[in-house]
Amino acid sequence: MRLKGKVAIVTGAGQGIGAATALKFAREGAIVAVCDLNHDAVFGVVSACRDAGVAADGFSIDVSDRDAVDDMVAKVLAKHHRIDVLVNNAGITRDARLQKMTLKQFDDVIDVNLRGVFHVAQAVVDTMIEQRAGVILNASSVVGIYGNYGQTNYAAAKFGVIGFTKTWSRELGPKGIRVNAIAPGFIDTPILSTIPEDVMAKMREQVPLRRLGTPEEIANIYAFLASDEASYINGAVIEASGGMTL
Ligand code: NAD
Repeated sequence: MRLKGKVAIVTGAGQGIGAATALKFAREGAIVAVCDLNHDAVFGVVSACRDAGVAADGFSIDVSDRDAVDDMVAKVLAKHHRIDVLVNNAGITRDARLQKMTLKQFDDVIDVNLRGVFHVAQAVVDTMIEQRAGVILNASSVVGIYGNYGQTNYAAAKFGVIGFTKTWSRELGPKGIRVNAIAPGFIDTPILSTIPEDVMAKMREQVPLRRLGTPEEIANIYAFLASDEASYINGAVIEASGGMTL
């Protein structure tokens, strides 16, 4: 078990990549704080983590709400007295071309995908510094490296997440904290549910492996990066896209 006894917070863990990551962490022995906006989904994942034999707690909160984030972190600390890993995974899309994008679409994505990542990282960082150990993992995207049609807001946030990752790895590396990001390609989760099937077929064709990734394939990378096996990986952006950007 690669994460035995480590205390981990996973945001956006109610479904998709976050749920797969919470469950993978539990199977690797971590104590998991499952955080998501969706109350029912949170408690389903908590119960799956407990079935894996570890302690798990659910927090039905919005990562863009700083008070709620601080409250969650305080509760995790009160119970477990440390935080070893943060997976900043919560994210949304509100797509539109530049000419059509509303300020609300822009603000909603920045609030969750960028400000939310900042909130949770800032809420855990003092604890990690006191421990002189910790791992922060951020969800970027291939869109955060190459941009994407119709995703001005999402691209800005995902590029920003890479900026956070590189900045924090410089600031926090000397204090024993590693910070890395994953840039997934197309992963088969509900976030893609609004994309028509003909577009999905073209997306698969773009990938040399000729298929979408699974949430578990991204969860495996988070588990590796969270573990001591990745002890010399800091400030990295790991692309996991089946080669779609080649
Ligand atoms: P998803 O939509 O399946 O799951 C996201 C989860 O985040 C949901 O459970 C949702 O309720 C939760 N969430 C949304 N807003 C929240 C908020 N304000 N506070 C707390 N929780 C909130 O998405 P996914 O595909 O699993 O994506 C996970 C992350 O990976 C996202 O950051 C996404 O941008 C990124 N990503 C996904 C893909 C992909 O193809 N699926 C590709 C690249 C990057």
